[in-house]
Amino acid sequence: MAKAGLIFTTDYEIFGNGSGCVEKCMIEPTERMASILEKYGATLTLFVDVCEYWAFEQEFASGKLKKDWAGQIKAQLQDLAKRGHHIQLHFHPQWLDYSFDGKNWTLNYDLWRIGKLKYEDLEFPAKGLKNLFAKGKKTLEEIITPVKESYKCHIFRAGAWSMQPEKDVLKAMKENGFDIDSTVASGLSFQDEFTFYDFKNSPNDAYWKIDEDLNSISMNGKIKEIPIFTTEMPLSKKVKFLGLKKKKGIAMKPQGCVGTSLATAGKGRLAKLTEVLSEKRKMFTFGDATSFEEMTYFAKRAVKRAKSFEKDIFPTVAISHPKTFANERELDSFLEWVSRNNKDIEFTNYNRI
Ligand SMILES: [Zn+2]
Repeated sequence: MAKAGLIFTTDYEIFGNGSGCVEKCMIEPTERMASILEKYGATLTLFVDVCEYWAFEQEFASGKLKKDWAGQIKAQLQDLAKRGHHIQLHFHPQWLDYSFDGKNWTLNYDLWRIGKLKYEDLEFPAKGLKNLFAKGKKTLEEIITPVKESYKCHIFRAGAWSMQPEKDVLKAMKENGFDIDSTVASGLSFQDEFTFYDFKNSPNDAYWKIDEDLNSISMNGKIKEIPIFTTEMPLSKKVKFLGLKKKKGIAMKPQGCVGTSLATAGKGRLAKLTEVLSEKRKMFTFGDATSFEEMTYFAKRAVKRAKSFEKDIFPTVAISHPKTFANERELDSFLEWVSRNNKDIEFTNYNRI
């Protein structure tokens, strides 16, 4: 019988089409998120999109980008690492081929899915998976090691969960010493013009070892898949939670953060609503205007699953994005609730699984 072990994660990036600004959509909401977690002794794992970081670095150096966004990101990551938070790797490869006119970014959406990149790309070596993981790991280790000597970059989550076909991605991860992946959202699948993932047949385990396939258990696999926690949600609950968001007036984005996600850019409110109501399972999110009630719904489901798990901790990965984090009060109440229920549930991190 295990306890549910909450792992709070956030994908650290601006919007996928290059909209949004680093101060309002990343730095400020991330700081609020981290301080609330610290109040209760919990830590945050940041999955840092280094592809946009490289673009910010390059365009600040060229003089076209007026603010040192890469410098601000670097300072925040070092500060958070010193405070005990965890910094790990995330890629949005559309940033590997961009143009910037001093105001707007034009990104190459053909590169949206990392699973479609080659293991080695002879024409564009920087887009080859082997080089990409080596460079991503090096970037984060160069940022964090000066403030935390023992730091290792060894955990990955794919941008837009779009890692499939994953064989070469996993090969590049193994080649570069990655031993944990946290991309899978158990039981979910999705496809649109850009994003593709299919985890419908993922194992029903708390976590599993993988080799060439995210959805298959491989006894001798070198990588541990620690999935994002998902659970079924009946329509009545979905309607209730949507109503609560509205009733409590929880904002969808932090104040001052202006941008749109590529996936929802062209969709009307009704289309979005229909999509939300038709999903059978949901990811455990603590951002996205999620209310205290909805977070406790997920946590209780995790506690229930933990009861039939033979190890000490049942990893329960929750996800968020600073760019859609404006429910501070809800998170605070939730963490307070977790602290009161510490017989069944506790805070943990990937390194303890
Ligand atoms: Zn992302």
